Amino acid sequence: MASQLIRDWVGINTFATATQTKLLELLGKLKQEDVSTLTILVMGKGGVGKSSTVNSIIGERAVTVSPFQSEGPRPVIVSRSRAGFTLNIIDTPGLIEGGYVNDQALEIIKRFLLNKTIDILLYVDRLDAYRVDNLDKQIVKAITDSFGKGIWNRALVVLTHAQLSPPDGLPYEDFYSKRSEALLKVVRMGAGLKKHDKQDFAIPVVLVENSGRCNKNESDEKVLPNGTAWIPHLVKTITEVVLNGSQSIVVDKKLIEGPNPNERGKFLIPLIFALQYFFVIKPIERAIKNDIAKESRPSWEMRDTGVGSRKF
Ligand code: GDP
Ligand code: MG
Repeated sequence: MASQLIRDWVGINTFATATQTKLLELLGKLKQEDVSTLTILVMGKGGVGKSSTVNSIIGERAVTVSPFQSEGPRPVIVSRSRAGFTLNIIDTPGLIEGGYVNDQALEIIKRFLLNKTIDILLYVDRLDAYRVDNLDKQIVKAITDSFGKGIWNRALVVLTHAQLSPPDGLPYEDFYSKRSEALLKVVRMGAGLKKHDKQDFAIPVVLVENSGRCNKNESDEKVLPNGTAWIPHLVKTITEVVLNGSQSIVVDKKLIEGPNPNERGKFLIPLIFALQYFFVIKPIERAIKNDIAKESRPSWEMRDTGVGSRKF
């Protein structure tokens, strides 16, 4: 990452003082744990607010935001440094084209990430979407196939457009939890996470409102309809995931060019069967044979053999 330009993180000064204080506190906590660099990968469908979220976190217009499908085909890395801490955020183009995962776009993203370490994945979608479908599952599967299941230990689901009034008078928290549940279910399916993985893979869902019309509280912090100051809450959740004891994803040549990381090691299966045959099944067979040979035959069996050998 030597060639990339690391600028001073001045955007942090645009946040409300209360937000700045909380952010610096969180960065201090990370540094205490020897984390002085964070690389965040932002992925999701087109138009869900990925680029806007990058800009909101950085506090400046660092990447292009567009209401229309006009994203460039390449990922962009934005690096900012503050008080000895470096934040890298990688914005990526949407992964869907013509109703399918665009494999070429995915390939470009993977090549871009070569020799980088992903500390956090922000999987972005909108809060105000009313359905999840097979396409969502396909994107999650494509991410999993590219970087391995372990990336979901380092993931947050980010829901944009969070300043909304739910339909049919549904309470905000109910709407949020229903949407989260539906999306998490699809993420778990797409990532191939099993029930017993649950403990390992408790993926947090966080809300974001990128609009300039986001409501503010009395301390001038941007707040959601539920009163949460969302920027510090997002960074706090990121900090928790970073410190949850799981591994960052190192994107090396092997990961990019090798087989699907979840299938790695499958070639060992025949070898394991062979070893089992020679070291487990064979010795058991031998032991049984020995036992039989050693066994003194009961008298009734002797008689039986006698009968069996008679010629008719
Ligand atoms: P991307 O394609 O995923 O990078 O999406 P963009 O960040 O370019 O956003 C697409 C459009 O949605 C732009 O017009 C943004 O202004 C708008 N947008 C993004 N996030 C939000 C949000 O949280 N609230 C609202 N109201 N609009 C948003
Ligand atoms: Mg974008």
